[in-house]
Amino acid sequence: MVGVEQLLERRVGVLLKANPGLAEAADLQKAILACVYGVAAPTRPIVLPVQRARDKLEGGVPLLHNEDVYLDPGFVQDVFGRLVNLLRSRPETADASASVADAAYEHRLHVEHVVAEAFVNHPEHLEAVAMQAGVDVDLLATLAQLSARPILKAYAEQLRPALERGQWSQGYCPICGAWPGLAELRGAELFRHFRCLRCAADWTATRLSCPFCGNDDYDTLGYLQIEGERRFRVDICRRCGGYVKAGNAFDPAPAEILALDDLASVHLDLAAIEREHTRPPEPGFRLELVGGEDELDDDD
Ligand SMILES: [Zn+2]
Ligand SMILES: [Zn+2]
Repeated sequence: MVGVEQLLERRVGVLLKANPGLAEAADLQKAILACVYGVAAPTRPIVLPVQRARDKLEGGVPLLHNEDVYLDPGFVQDVFGRLVNLLRSRPETADASASVADAAYEHRLHVEHVVAEAFVNHPEHLEAVAMQAGVDVDLLATLAQLSARPILKAYAEQLRPALERGQWSQGYCPICGAWPGLAELRGAELFRHFRCLRCAADWTATRLSCPFCGNDDYDTLGYLQIEGERRFRVDICRRCGGYVKAGNAFDPAPAEILALDDLASVHLDLAAIEREHTRPPEPGFRLELVGGEDELDDDD
């Protein structure tokens, strides 16, 4: 996808001009994105009849929930392996990634199982697996979440037409249940579109409200404008303390660019956290899949 690569280069250029200190982080991010999105994830069709899609959307249930989702074992192993190799080549993560590689090689860690846990976003299961295998919890979670992203993205693309089947009025992602990672302000009226950093889904809020608690009282909603920052702002809710970064966008950003925008606006996270705003630690909706885990365990 040449278009995305060019866009990525341009965005990295802009990012480095504004924040030369992020050069190393941007380099790593580019290498990670090449591993994660370099090859499209194979999927199998999810059969979602019109009425089932409508019931889910109107009931606040993400479309992937309780579906039979295929995670291609070869693809999962490949992406995970390339990410481990990338992080092994960097001094700050070399030792911790080498122990992940050893654990996988010695079958103390089942890569497909780990990525399946990241796909459904069950952090406590990832933590248990890491402890059992004796590897770094945060590193394993990061590797697994990154490996799950291209598969989530491929299914989000497959399910995009089904999003038209009903009205979605929740703050979390209609595909995978994660909280929005960013908001894009689009069009002349700067209409707010939420974006999922896991599956890259795009959804709109039916009214101006907090995605986390549904608060729609204008007096307790607002935003932080950070000095010298022209592209992003931080939308905040004084009722639940939640925040989401928002930036102007002409078009929906592709998944790769979303990840980079998230990095480019990390100083806004710091500004929000300094003012005691947070984001909920648990996903908006806890995803489960049909028959997924046993099948995956058998594959190892
Ligand atoms: Zn999502
Ligand atoms: Zn709120």
